[in-house]
Amino acid sequence: MFWRRNRAVAVPLQSEEAEALERSVEKTRESVFGRVSQLFRRPVLDESTWDELTQLLMESDIGPSRAFRLVEHAREMVEGETLKTPVEAETALRRQLVESLGAAEPMLLEDQPGRLAVHMVGVNGSGKTTTSAKLSAYLRHRGRSTLLAAADTFRAAAIDQLQVWGERTGTDVIAGQQGSDLGAVVFDAVHAARMRGLDTVIIDTAGRLHTKTNLMDELSKLRRVATKADPDVTQVALLVLDATTGQNALMQAKRFLEAVQVDGIILTKLDGTAKGGVVFAVFEELNLPIWYVGSGEKLTDLAPFDHLAFVNALFR
Ligand code: GDP
Repeated sequence: MFWRRNRAVAVPLQSEEAEALERSVEKTRESVFGRVSQLFRRPVLDESTWDELTQLLMESDIGPSRAFRLVEHAREMVEGETLKTPVEAETALRRQLVESLGAAEPMLLEDQPGRLAVHMVGVNGSGKTTTSAKLSAYLRHRGRSTLLAAADTFRAAAIDQLQVWGERTGTDVIAGQQGSDLGAVVFDAVHAARMRGLDTVIIDTAGRLHTKTNLMDELSKLRRVATKADPDVTQVALLVLDATTGQNALMQAKRFLEAVQVDGIILTKLDGTAKGGVVFAVFEELNLPIWYVGSGEKLTDLAPFDHLAFVNALFR
């Protein structure tokens, strides 16, 4: 179990976090939710409004059944006069979207106590290496001390890439040679963090999904190795998913979840798609919290996933 941020005592998103979240939904807002807002500027909501609303929500990749459900609910409330004006109807739709994302309190690495070993899992190209670097910069900025582990030892390029990011973020990188044992790299990194008194090791794992058993064995071995290197370490597995692949990302995630235990999602490249509605589908279908979203290729392009701020940014 991980700690959720307590909203009653939590500070709102810092301005750079809010800006990153804004950047991540710019395309989706322009193409879909901005137009949804315009529909609710009409004096009267009629049949064609509901059709257009359904169409727009579907375009956002929110998933057809969810789109129909949301529209039906809003429509019933308007026709039953529970909602008296288009503005009230828009507010109700926004509230429903927020609620469909589950518990309102964000789940964040910086709120977890003790030493952490964060396993970044996901297929190649999803953004694991870049996100590992972004996370390191993000956490250091928030007072945590980090170490990066280049555990994608199948690809020399991935090791080099992480080392470059390490230099840019001022983070030490523990890496083996290409082809060396993944377990040894993870052991060295977690052990080094413990010895140096660093609190977070971010492990960029291999993205190969050759066979389920293979992947499962590999990742559970890495967990065992991390515990051996530091019996007190808390392990977190975050699945990195590319939002631009839409429904494909969901299928991919389901295959991963059959094989490995995952605690949460990082949805990358949300800035690169107009189909940001996929966030709702990801949450509902995988039943896992989204911890962070990626909003670009720069180090600062990572935002905590705050439901309320996310939905507000979609409609701004
Ligand atoms: P890996 O194979 O999973 O380690 O993926 P990489 O970290 O190498 O990323 C693959 C590509 O996606 C790179 O070109 C990254 O710059 C890009 N990328 C990663 N995250 C984001 C993001 O949030 N937004 C955008 N636009 N591109 C991203």
